[in-house]
Amino acid sequence: MSFVTGLKCRECGRKYPKEPTAGCSECFAPLEVDYDYDAIAQTLTREKITRREPNIWKYRELLPLDGTPVVGPGTGCTPLLRAKNLGKRLGLTNLYIKNDSVNAPTLSFKDRVTAVAVNKALEFGLTAVGCASTGNLANSVAATAAAAGLPAFILIPENLEKSKVVGTTIYGATVVAVRGNYDDVNRLCTQIADRYAWGLVNVNLRPFYGEGSKTVGYEIAEALGWRAPDAIVVPMAGGSLITKIHKGFKEFEKLGLLDAPVATRIFGAQATGCNPIATAVKRSTCTIRPVKPDTIAKSLAIGNPADGYFAAGVIARSGGWAEDVSDPEILEGIKLLAETEGIFTETAGGVTVAVTQKLVAEKRIKPDDVTVLTITGNGLKTQEVLHTAPPVVIDPRLADFHSAVFGKAASA
Ligand SMILES: *Cc1c(COP(=O)(O)O)cnc(C)c1O
Ligand SMILES: [Zn+2]
Repeated sequence: MSFVTGLKCRECGRKYPKEPTAGCSECFAPLEVDYDYDAIAQTLTREKITRREPNIWKYRELLPLDGTPVVGPGTGCTPLLRAKNLGKRLGLTNLYIKNDSVNAPTLSFKDRVTAVAVNKALEFGLTAVGCASTGNLANSVAATAAAAGLPAFILIPENLEKSKVVGTTIYGATVVAVRGNYDDVNRLCTQIADRYAWGLVNVNLRPFYGEGSKTVGYEIAEALGWRAPDAIVVPMAGGSLITKIHKGFKEFEKLGLLDAPVATRIFGAQATGCNPIATAVKRSTCTIRPVKPDTIAKSLAIGNPADGYFAAGVIARSGGWAEDVSDPEILEGIKLLAETEGIFTETAGGVTVAVTQKLVAEKRIKPDDVTVLTITGNGLKTQEVLHTAPPVVIDPRLADFHSAVFGKAASA
């Protein structure tokens, strides 16, 4: 049972059937899944949602599958944590962390989009899946394809972090590293989509894939007691996640599931070494000028973001803003989150924390705003950026322990 009416061009509104399609053949803009919201409103209630198993499929009426999901049973419903310690450091009294660094199966928010796209590939009868990835999507597609029993063809830029490479090859996927940056990889992947009858999750399955990200918005609104937050900070690569979180809030509002209208200011976060969307927002335009990425935040290193235009638009219309931070600031952000909340995030999470600090200093986020930080990936995957002091090594003697810890010999 599906409430999907078809695909629709986000720019010119032209309608397309539910099929693997990369973009509008008229204007080349991205396509979006369209639903029969009146029919969904007839059946979907808060009670129904709350009673269901804690995974993304509890919102199944708002996801584009025709049948029962085959893969992704453990994806989604990650914790929304009250972050009092970090809040104190940032000067925010109502701070929350949406912790997708513990999402399943591969510890990033990408498991949400992949779960939808790979199930859709199975429904379409496609015999292989793949993607162009900055790292986390590679992990997620490789793992999910293995669970689905499909071969996976994964394209990555040559310079990815070691854990992201190993965390892809381990699942038996065919991994191809391309000399070039993500934008080169993506261009090649578009040609591959034309040549082979595969489901490339962020190319010809992209309209379906993007829908998975809406569940971040649903989960946050549900966990806040059926309310959207006052402010949310979201890291941006291609700019899809940030627009889909907003779409999630608006759909809940449209279906009458929220206690108050959505008045969320949407804030985008990027690294200064790859900031095309933040730059557009600061210039008060939605037109993206592509850049050449140069940052440790490799998961966000997309110089020509596919949804950048829409991300900049959503941010501006919401009364939000976008900021970017330097590589040293990203490292400080990672450390701050770890030391205050006990959450080890990757570089993208460091971007989110450091950008939030900037937004508070600029008074764009107010001290008592109900604010959510979207922590999208896990720190174990980007360990090489950190240069923490190695532990002290001692012989197994109590006196050695005491002098190592307290700096002097133990008194007898
Ligand atoms: C891909 C990614 C993002 C951004 O996703 P987009 O939808 O492309 O903007 C954010 N954080 C992490 C960790 C990611 O891997
Ligand atoms: Zn169009």
